[in-house]
Amino acid sequence: MELAQRITEIQPSVTLAIAAMAKAMQKDGEDICSFSAGEPDFDTPAHIKDAAKQALDRGKTKYGAAAGEPELRESIAGKLKRDNNLKYSAANILVTNGGKHSLYNLMMAVINPGDEVIIPAPFWLSYPEMVKLAGGVPVIVDTDSSTGYKITADALSAAITPRTKLFILNSPSNPSGVVYTRNELQALAKVIVDRDILVVSDEIYEKIIYDGVEQVSIGALGEEIFQRTIISNGFAKAYSMTGWRIGYLAAPVALIQAASALQGHSTSNVCTFAQYGAIAALEGSQDCVETMRQAFATRRQVMLDCLQQIPGLTCAKPDGAFYIFANIGNTKFKSLDFCSQLLEQQQVAAIPGQPFGADDCIRLSYATDLITIEKGMDRLAKFVSNCT
Ligand code: GLU
Repeated sequence: MELAQRITEIQPSVTLAIAAMAKAMQKDGEDICSFSAGEPDFDTPAHIKDAAKQALDRGKTKYGAAAGEPELRESIAGKLKRDNNLKYSAANILVTNGGKHSLYNLMMAVINPGDEVIIPAPFWLSYPEMVKLAGGVPVIVDTDSSTGYKITADALSAAITPRTKLFILNSPSNPSGVVYTRNELQALAKVIVDRDILVVSDEIYEKIIYDGVEQVSIGALGEEIFQRTIISNGFAKAYSMTGWRIGYLAAPVALIQAASALQGHSTSNVCTFAQYGAIAALEGSQDCVETMRQAFATRRQVMLDCLQQIPGLTCAKPDGAFYIFANIGNTKFKSLDFCSQLLEQQQVAAIPGQPFGADDCIRLSYATDLITIEKGMDRLAKFVSNCT
């Protein structure tokens, strides 16, 4: 069968593929240590599940508005004011089937064929694929240790052409864990405003930050940058709601109306009763978020301590998210072979850096329990000692 060209140009999601493979092997009784998909191992907090159950019992089982339940859109606007100093109302919010879907809808709503989208590397692997699906051209800007793996204002400025439409900013970042400072964001915002492009700020890891670093939303830095900012966020990471598939876009009303029309002809509304769980997540106590954050902080330290004992691997201490992006440049493998051999020989699932734009790195998620981390790092050490 001849497939559409747009689909032949994209790669399947490696994060989802490896995570599914690891889960299938575990189900078959294999003793797998999985550091693959970024998926918190905690159960969704009880008050959130209860709210969804009650919504089911109240009959919230019908079609809803494509843009989301009005109460949830209000609640998200309230959260963005409270937490991020962003002045949105419900009309500025689109509820989507997860953070990923919010980004996909955005790309489809703003990108014309040939439009360029600037993506700093390393990047979350779905960004370039979504840009291509929308007919755009991903423009990858490499970063390195000299700038802490962050794109600078000068590098952003140099990458902008008359075709540039959008810049993708992800802080805290998947996979590197870097968090941009207020000053760095101010410098990037100046370029975005001066050169009149759009920025999407993917803030899905905003609650998972360490050592007192500040999480700043670029759209809060002034009226001109606010008008050019689109926020993408969701409930998966902060509230351990990965399977619920609830995310959102916040943006100027015209864009939300366009993305909502797209959603009206594609997915329609997000599962109605699930949206009531999301309202409870935002309106209820935030203690669960802090409890999980503290657990991630401990796990980060344990994984870092283990990795530091492995000659041949190097890694920076991440300020946010729940990944360590370790450099494997001293081993004899590139990342795809490294990860397939590691899984085969030691039953450890890690994600290769290649689809993230960094083939000399692997990504290890520490959103898993300490026993798995210690056991898996032992196995990783054995593997590395045989391949350096
Ligand atoms: N965003 C998560 C990750 O990078 C979930 C998997 C995915 O959607 O790619 O692991």
